[in-house]
Amino acid sequence: MLSYQHSYHAGNMADVHKHAMLAWMLDYMTAKPKPLSYMETHAGRALYDLSGPEALKTGEAARGIALADRWFPADHPYMRALRATRDRHGPQAYPGSPQIAMDLLRFEDSIALSELHPAEVEALRAALPGVTVSQTDGYAGALSRCPPDPRRGLLLCDPSWEIKSDYETVPDFMAKLHRKWAVGVLVLWFPVLEGAPHRPMVRQLHRQFPDAISHTVAFPPARPGHGMTGSGLFVVNPPYGFVDQANWLSDKFATLCAQP
Ligand code: SAM
Repeated sequence: MLSYQHSYHAGNMADVHKHAMLAWMLDYMTAKPKPLSYMETHAGRALYDLSGPEALKTGEAARGIALADRWFPADHPYMRALRATRDRHGPQAYPGSPQIAMDLLRFEDSIALSELHPAEVEALRAALPGVTVSQTDGYAGALSRCPPDPRRGLLLCDPSWEIKSDYETVPDFMAKLHRKWAVGVLVLWFPVLEGAPHRPMVRQLHRQFPDAISHTVAFPPARPGHGMTGSGLFVVNPPYGFVDQANWLSDKFATLCAQP
């Protein structure tokens, strides 16, 4: 039974990290006049209301995008996507990763999304009519779709990490995916939690993909006792310039931890 709902966490510091880097990568990749495939294994609902009861209950967006908004220049692709959502739905609206992708991809690009939770699927289909949304296990769905056409493209794997065995199974999933789709940009998000359960997985991933990059940022917990104190991305075939963009963002996050 799935209990995780991203509405409680949308716009938190982990989203800022994941979504800013995703937007940057898509902006870089769409600058070339060649179509691409975009896929997600765990899509969520694409549109969130930061004034809704879920967001207000945790206060995570107030310790996330509300603080980070000023970090980004107006022409940063994350800001462009954020502005497009706010223009359409009001100042408290926040785009999930599928909506960010929709706002940055072009007519010639293809998009395919997996999501398992029935309420999230319904909301996702309502937010993005006409987009391929499969109510399937995202790992199986991605393996069945790869290699995509066109071959050039990016896949975001963004599990909720509710199922602890994901830490053991994800490296094998990434290896299988890469065997089927060697040129794909594979982006895995993971939380940095108390006890660092991500560490053995990331070590294993680096053994499998020596040229891949992992980028983690640290931030103060969104509320006292909250276990998430950072966000990580592991990227196979990172686009050129990824490290510079990641370093730029790390400096922004460092200002949070430097504050008393
Ligand atoms: N990618 C979204 C974003 O950044 O806006 C957030 C996704 S949220 C972290 C994870 C989502 O995965 C939840 O909506 C959950 O219902 C869904 N989920 C959980 N297990 C899944 C599975 N095996 N396959 C597909 N979706 C799953």
